[in-house]
Amino acid sequence: MSIFDRIFRRRGKTTDNRDQDDLLSMTDFIRRAEQEVERLIEADTGWYRNLPYQGAMSITKAKEYEIEKWAVWNRVIYDAKRSRLAGLKWSCRNDSLSCPECIKNHDRIFTLDQYDRLASKSRHLGCRCELIPIQSI
Ligand SMILES: [Zn+2]
Repeated sequence: MSIFDRIFRRRGKTTDNRDQDDLLSMTDFIRRAEQEVERLIEADTGWYRNLPYQGAMSITKAKEYEIEKWAVWNRVIYDAKRSRLAGLKWSCRNDSLSCPECIKNHDRIFTLDQYDRLASKSRHLGCRCELIPIQSI
């Protein structure tokens, strides 16, 4: 069973007994990511065909993978902000399948005061970019 399945099987149990200023859980990030990914899938019927890793997994698995990536991306930014990490470096694969916007951001360092902007940047399905923690700038 994947991490994804385990999180979703817990759905409903963990929501109501928390204080309002509780930290966000991974389940929160997965739920938000699911909404975003579903919105993008609705807007692009060819999304699966256009994935850079197309054929490597089924449509269902690919959708789960996109949701997980999206949730982790936002979780990394959230934790970086919370722990006042000095910076996050955008790392793009920089190959023929990379999108122009991601290539443009390759090696760009976002500092603590830029994390909100980083989190609000639009992303795309099939993005293979990662955020690398930078301890000091
Ligand atoms: Zn990307």
